[in-house]
Amino acid sequence: MRAVVLDGRGSPKIHELPDPEPGPGDLVIAPAAVGICGTDLHLACGDYPTGRFPVVPGHEFSGTVVSAGRGVEDFAPGDRVCVDPNVACDACEQCRAGATNLCPELVPIGVTTDGACAELVRVPAKVAYRLPAGLGFATGALVEPLACVLHAVSRIRPVKGQRVLVYGAGSIGLLAVACARARGARGVDVIEPSAVRRGAAVEFGADAVYGPGLRPPGHDVDLAVEASGHPSAVADALDRLAKRGTLLQMGVVSPESSIDLFPYDLFDRELSLVGSQSLATAFPDAVRAVLDLPRLAERMVTHTFALEDYAAALEAARSDTARKVHILPQQ
Ligand SMILES: [Zn+2]
Ligand SMILES: [Zn+2]
Repeated sequence: MRAVVLDGRGSPKIHELPDPEPGPGDLVIAPAAVGICGTDLHLACGDYPTGRFPVVPGHEFSGTVVSAGRGVEDFAPGDRVCVDPNVACDACEQCRAGATNLCPELVPIGVTTDGACAELVRVPAKVAYRLPAGLGFATGALVEPLACVLHAVSRIRPVKGQRVLVYGAGSIGLLAVACARARGARGVDVIEPSAVRRGAAVEFGADAVYGPGLRPPGHDVDLAVEASGHPSAVADALDRLAKRGTLLQMGVVSPESSIDLFPYDLFDRELSLVGSQSLATAFPDAVRAVLDLPRLAERMVTHTFALEDYAAALEAARSDTARKVHILPQQ
């Protein structure tokens, strides 16, 4: 099979690799659509802490089951599926508490083991989910980032009635806007440096959009969703939180960066700081919730590329005209 192989030094190559065979409990899937996200951009140039090289990237994907290993009863060749790329041990303390994203044995497909930017990918059947009828492959590949947003909102009190401010209108920020709207937020504002992305945020339901530093000051935000990864956004959010406001940290901030924190503000306004990484057990919820976001793939997927054009796809994903870039491995 043809596959994209990353060496962690910034130059993706197409290699011929042996076709994967399904072991016991495994599926081999022909990926149809594979999303590129910030993780892949970091992985390609080797600055992702848990990356292992060489590796086939691709962790946001959907496709068709080609073969099933011994013991697989729920899937058969021809089934259309999407895949939770996080394979947890299911036995440790974190897994037993439902925090599978914090499992010390976690194997993220497309990061430390070969992913879906290939003609075939092998996954344990336990992380595959049937695509609901009528749901296209492009939408199926958006279930993973949506699951990350659903996990994040599961960490806080209900969004209904809250005044929400989202930092960053990349794909996660846009999904956060759509999700806040769908859950009855009282208002959703967005702060984003790129005018193109601010336009996208309005399309996804933002009430007001601002460049950095341009939103009037005040403690008028019940929920700040940090999806930009910029430490300055974290500091700005803390400055804007209303009494009992919550900062939800979704953006991947550089591990070296820090901000000034005024503990008095936490005390005085009873602020909550909540972190959220990956998707824990939210994937099945996202398979259902994606049905409530009409035309999501049409609105979200701005670029598609063949496997051979992976380098160009990374370039596109770095541009501010990209919402979500998809690789189509069967093209
Ligand atoms: Zn991702
Ligand atoms: Zn575990």
